[in-house]
Amino acid sequence: MSKYDDMKKIRDELLVFKESPLYAYRTENKFFPVVGEGSHDATIMFVGEAPGLNEAKTGRPFCGAAGKFLDELVGSIGGKREQVYITNIVKDRPPENRDPTPEEIELYAPFLDKQIEIIQPKVIATLGRHSMGYVMRHFGLDLELEPISKIHGRGFQTELKLADGKTQPLSIVTLYHPAAALYNGGMRDTLKKDFEVLKEYV
Ligand code: URA
Repeated sequence: MSKYDDMKKIRDELLVFKESPLYAYRTENKFFPVVGEGSHDATIMFVGEAPGLNEAKTGRPFCGAAGKFLDELVGSIGGKREQVYITNIVKDRPPENRDPTPEEIELYAPFLDKQIEIIQPKVIATLGRHSMGYVMRHFGLDLELEPISKIHGRGFQTELKLADGKTQPLSIVTLYHPAAALYNGGMRDTLKKDFEVLKEYV
């Protein structure tokens, strides 16, 4: 199967993911699951938390105000949105923009794990603390986990196990969520500076 087919299978499964507590809310509101968007051969994969209202209405990740800032950040290191892959851990919108629950993260995480296997990025940039917590634990970096205020902008080295049993180096870069920086000039500058860690992967 091609990468496209593998990714399509994930979308098809998400469309009928009735086990999720967010499924009824999605269908009642005629929302879409948000699978992810970008190059299936991307070097950099961004992982946010969960879709907001704009994302659920369109089925596209980071297409609102936070997404505009994310595009700007990617541009600031010489990249383009189409070159990277952008997704979230939780693929359906939680009501009233609340944080995803630990149960929702656990339920949706296998879809993200598959996407990482398909894309085989060189670096995963986590956006926000939920994404950071899941991705770092998943790649055996539990002991390195600290509050995001302490470890934002850092790179952690780990390994990605491929389906054929081989491994390849993987960096995890922990970033603040772009939404947190929207109305906070200081945080905006911090995120811009932290993004420079990603420059070598563009
Ligand atoms: N915030 C996220 O975490 N993900 C999106 O797709 C949009 C906003």
